[in-house]
Amino acid sequence: MAPRVRFAPSPTGYLHLGSARSALFNWLYARNTGGTLVLRIEDTDAERSSQEMIDLILRSFDWLGIDFDEGPYHQSERMERYRAAADRLFAEGKAYYCDLTPEQVQQRAKEQGIAGYDGYSRDRGLEPGPGRVLRFRVPDEGSTVVRDVVRGDVSFDHADLEDFVILRGNGSPVFLVANAVDDADMGITHVIRGEDLLNTTPKVLLLWDALGYGDPPTYAHLPLIVNDQGKKLSKRRDDVAVEDYRDRGYLPEAMVNYLALLGWGPRDDVEVRPVAEIIERFALEDISKGSARFDPKKLEHVNGEKIRALPVDELLALARPFVEAADWYDAATFDEDRYRAVGPLVQERARTLADVPGLIDFLFLPDPEVDDALWEKVMVNGPDAAGVLDDVLDAYAEVDWSTDVLHETLRSLGEARELKLGKAQAPVRVAVTGRTVGPPLFEALEILGRDETIRRLGAARSRL
Ligand code: GLU
Repeated sequence: MAPRVRFAPSPTGYLHLGSARSALFNWLYARNTGGTLVLRIEDTDAERSSQEMIDLILRSFDWLGIDFDEGPYHQSERMERYRAAADRLFAEGKAYYCDLTPEQVQQRAKEQGIAGYDGYSRDRGLEPGPGRVLRFRVPDEGSTVVRDVVRGDVSFDHADLEDFVILRGNGSPVFLVANAVDDADMGITHVIRGEDLLNTTPKVLLLWDALGYGDPPTYAHLPLIVNDQGKKLSKRRDDVAVEDYRDRGYLPEAMVNYLALLGWGPRDDVEVRPVAEIIERFALEDISKGSARFDPKKLEHVNGEKIRALPVDELLALARPFVEAADWYDAATFDEDRYRAVGPLVQERARTLADVPGLIDFLFLPDPEVDDALWEKVMVNGPDAAGVLDDVLDAYAEVDWSTDVLHETLRSLGEARELKLGKAQAPVRVAVTGRTVGPPLFEALEILGRDETIRRLGAARSRL
């Protein structure tokens, strides 16, 4: 039977990296096995407009290339199903009403030195009524075992589980019931989700059993994503909202590839590869237990690799909005040929699409912008800047204007002054581009042309 898996987000307003990872693992599994991926919105206690939230999330999935085969289903539209299940548990004596307020529950727990609810109303025979919660009667003895593909068998003693609430005082079902009912109704075979939900699983399984649903789905709890301090990934939106990565010039293939590595790795250890190959190799058995470290540098590295894997034209098209947002961009005068010519150089150096304007601005600005500190460092305090510029001005007036010749010329000029190529390049690069890092220099000079190169070198020499 082909697997049926689901991604079941609760409303957040934007797609968190952790949720995106969960969705991705479900998607990879479904696509690898030819299964069905269901989207289910778990909005049982949502107060904010959920359509807006869903649209935001769907937009991020669209961008990532993660598609769903069914749904979205909305739990808020299925409340009657959950209430009916809860009523059945009550009718069968598997759940009971309790009229204690949360404060009273706490007070009793404190008095008895226990954590949680003490089972006070178990045998009081209360009927439903306003403010009364319905609690599930957890068996006194035994344990519930979660069979987890990632973590093995995880056993939860019933003695450690309180009689948990399934209907709130206002009659609304909690997510545990909705989760069990939906997974059963929707024929879900595999539940792949974050480890933070592991301790809710025995409760869902108890409900599952009590509702007579038969064999439960297979569970796979994904390792926690942590930051470089080993702490759970921050909730500060800037670090975790998928759409912000799009805005910062990340490619969807890079996000998907990198997120796939947060807890999973292919057996051949090749980390950066096309998404189709990731789908092919994905296996739940290869998910690791240990927490997964989110490393922004590595994500950036993967992004650079994906940029290098693109056809140049596509890269230029994707980078275009970033270029157009630069303050120097002018649609009326923008030199398209130059933009096309510099494409291969950009591709070699850019790590994000947002790097592109800074790598090419010198080709479009009337004069490079050099900040004072950089000028001091390279031109004033660097080795022999004036001498190098004099030599280069002489030599570049004559030579063949091609990358190799420009390169060789500067190399030998530098050598005569006992400067390594890097040192000899620095004043030239600053004079021409205004920066110390940028695209490969001699290719860049070739594109800029002899006249403009010489004019900029001359201007820098005079300023010295
Ligand atoms: N709605 C839950 C959450 O977003 C996920 C529940 C599940 O995947 O089973 O945390």
